[in-house]
Amino acid sequence: MLTIKDKEFWFIVGSQQLYGEEALLEVKAQAQTITDALNKSGALPYPIILKDLAINADQITNVMKEVNYRDEVAGVITWMHTFSPAKMWIRGTKLLQKPLLHLATQFNESIPWDTIDMDFMNLNQSAHGDREYGFINARLNKQNKIVVGYWGKSEVQRQIAEWMDVAAAYNESFNIKVARFGDNMRNVAVTDGDKIEAQIQFGWTVDYFAIGDLVQYVNAVKEEEIDALFAEYKDCYEFDYGNYSKEAWEASVRVQVSYEIAIKRFLDDGGYNAFTSNFEDLYGMKQLPGLAVQRLMGQGYGFAGEGDWKTAALDRLLKVMSHNQSTGFMEDYTYELAEGKEAILQSHMLEVDPTLASSKPKITVFPLDIGDREDPARLVFDGKAGDGIVVSMADFGTHFKLLINEVTAFEPTTSAPNLPVARVLWQVKPNFQDGVKAWIENGGGHHTVVSLNLTTDQIVSYAKLVGLDYIIIK
Ligand code: MN
Repeated sequence: MLTIKDKEFWFIVGSQQLYGEEALLEVKAQAQTITDALNKSGALPYPIILKDLAINADQITNVMKEVNYRDEVAGVITWMHTFSPAKMWIRGTKLLQKPLLHLATQFNESIPWDTIDMDFMNLNQSAHGDREYGFINARLNKQNKIVVGYWGKSEVQRQIAEWMDVAAAYNESFNIKVARFGDNMRNVAVTDGDKIEAQIQFGWTVDYFAIGDLVQYVNAVKEEEIDALFAEYKDCYEFDYGNYSKEAWEASVRVQVSYEIAIKRFLDDGGYNAFTSNFEDLYGMKQLPGLAVQRLMGQGYGFAGEGDWKTAALDRLLKVMSHNQSTGFMEDYTYELAEGKEAILQSHMLEVDPTLASSKPKITVFPLDIGDREDPARLVFDGKAGDGIVVSMADFGTHFKLLINEVTAFEPTTSAPNLPVARVLWQVKPNFQDGVKAWIENGGGHHTVVSLNLTTDQIVSYAKLVGLDYIIIK
């Protein structure tokens, strides 16, 4: 499973002493009402914890320090209930090393014209306080998120929820550890890059292992373990024996079962949550890991083929952000160029993520033309429909660059009886010609991560948090 430790967000409400104790008690009560309502709404993926009102510099500085060292706190949401002089926010805001959301809201939705007086105005002056506070965040170049609107509205809550997922992924980015079984595929350019810089900028640890290190784990898997896991497959998938005898088919699938057990054990022993393989480096392996990799992607491990550690780490990052819903490693394969039907067929030689499947996948065995190994088992399915984003990361020597293209995936209507891999089809925005051209022109790779669960805005929020150059094609 996708194991993310429990996260929470601290809600810090700004005010000042000027208004007196009675007003501050009311501010606090209203902040508590909002906190409780948001936590009970079911709209947010993580809980909000209301902290003491922020009314002086020392207190703000101390709470931000505490946010930094508490691993369970993924970020801070601030609300300027009244006017909170922003010089007192400077030190704490500068020290804050976690994502910040400025919620520009107000306790009451409408102005009560029948009863409004100066007491009400002084107590409910978010519009005033938002500008004072926002100025300091802008001047400090904080790259914080700003969500505007009445806190009770579902649209506002949706924006908070999406940002929370970005913030959780930002925190988890520093825990991403990629195990590479073998190096990059020989001669390929786009999958290479500066691993040290990636660790400095994104927090990713990328470690190399010889395939023999994994083979030792494979050889240690017990037959009983293979029996037990193979039995679980029967409930999850259709079994398609194709041209193979049941015995030959099962023998092939059982090799992949042993790979699933071994790779998972290897990764978990070393604290790795993403990995790469390379079909050129399979010494001691009977098959290229296919079904095994698909199963592990389904469980939330990041993956990319041919030693592509950047995409494997990005896959893990976006799986955390999306709660592993409809998000996975992908490769641009074949164009559909007929007028009005333009699309790109997405797949990989085996390893297509089953979180993108529109229905129950089938397990098939088929020869693999490359890699010079036995016929590997794999999951075959059609991808689901939906709007989403496709993202690739390239190393341009002086900086990393993220490409984001908005896409519309659709379910294929024509069968492909001779295609022994899963397939995903999508149209790119703004249209095929301009979208594809912009992707190529900007150096976007053929290895990507697609998500039908995330938005461009979320990817941009992450990119800003880590100072990552990005280009949006939409
Ligand atoms: Mn590939």
